[in-house]
Amino acid sequence: MERTLSIVKPDGVSGGLIGEVVRRFEKNGIKIAAMKMIHLSRTQAEGFYAVHKERPFFASLTEFMSSGPCLVMVLEGENVIAKNRELMGATDYRKAAEGTIRRDFASDIEKNIVHGSDAPETAAYEIGYFFNQLEIVGK
Ligand code: GDP
Repeated sequence: MERTLSIVKPDGVSGGLIGEVVRRFEKNGIKIAAMKMIHLSRTQAEGFYAVHKERPFFASLTEFMSSGPCLVMVLEGENVIAKNRELMGATDYRKAAEGTIRRDFASDIEKNIVHGSDAPETAAYEIGYFFNQLEIVGK
């Protein structure tokens, strides 16, 4: 059993896509082990995306991520890191496969509706960034 961090980004929340994203997870057998709404400060967004701090889009990305509330979730299931990435689609919505969340709803490479951890180590770090053990149900 694996865990991953999912975020419905501010554009997804303001666009009314929380239900649609959660529906896709549930429909695909992914269990939600934790969820909460959070409005990140700029500093908290910078901490979360610290690995990208040298990238040219870091300032814009952290401004966007702190522009409004996000839904953060811990997802649980077999192979859930890869499964979530598959449901999300490629970072650039124009390259994302048909039927993925980003292909269906994103219209910008940065404002791309969802975030999902990309590996077990990043998942552990990202889950710990938002949740303590008491907030996560299950084993
Ligand atoms: P992800 O794992 O698919 O989310 O992609 P990355 O880890 O590479 O990038 C993190 C986030 O930064 C993406 O989800 C986008 O919101 C943003 N991002 C990535 N590439 C670009 C880019 O070329 N330009 C801008 N403005 N934002 C980007």
